[in-house]
Amino acid sequence: MGKLVIISGPSGSGKTTVCKLLEKEPNVKKSVSVTTRPPRYDEKNGESYYFVNNTEFKEMIQRGELAEYATYCNYYYGTPLNALKEALKKEIIYLLEIDVQGAIQIMEKFPEVISIFLLPPDKDTLHNRLIKRNTNKKKDMEVRLKTAAKELEFKDRYNYCVINDNLDTTVNTIRKILNIS
Ligand code: ADP
Ligand code: 5GP
Repeated sequence: MGKLVIISGPSGSGKTTVCKLLEKEPNVKKSVSVTTRPPRYDEKNGESYYFVNNTEFKEMIQRGELAEYATYCNYYYGTPLNALKEALKKEIIYLLEIDVQGAIQIMEKFPEVISIFLLPPDKDTLHNRLIKRNTNKKKDMEVRLKTAAKELEFKDRYNYCVINDNLDTTVNTIRKILNIS
């Protein structure tokens, strides 16, 4: 039986970076979500996300192909259900890098899930990391920072809160939580 793990946190808290490092372990895999957001310059279809249009996303909802879905900053995001079910049949750690709305749906459907909320050390650091990443337009970044404040209100619903200050420390803390040797 696989282990299902949610990693949430405000945009820029370091979810993608941390998941990439965790994924270096052969038994750790990350779910590839479906989204209507346009790809960033360094994102490949089928690797970072499956990029679809609104009609395609709505059809997936209607066909029951998503384990959860949510709207985040005006775009749809969802977790493919089949891939999740297949992953759980194997002895792997399956990471869901999803927002708080999706996390709550997964906690209800899969109560055995381990949930981790990644926190930035402080607001300024979050702002600076988003600027450094430089993948969002100014307007989009403002929306993401506003959304961050709302997301923080959900942190107590998670099993663990981890402050992502030093990256190595963060990854080691999560490895311990997940019993990765
Ligand atoms: P998220 O997926 O949560 O939106 P990212 O993983 O894209 O966040 O990280 C946002 C930016 O912050 C990236 O440029 C990343 O390299 C940087 N970053 C992530 N974690 C750390 C850390 N612990 N220390 C310094 N920079 C970090
Ligand atoms: P980004 O646009 O920065 O890649 O992601 C924006 C937000 O959407 C992040 O909080 C990310 O965790 C979340 N997200 C990514 N995939 C999914 C998904 O499949 N479902 C939900 N609910 N949120 C997702």
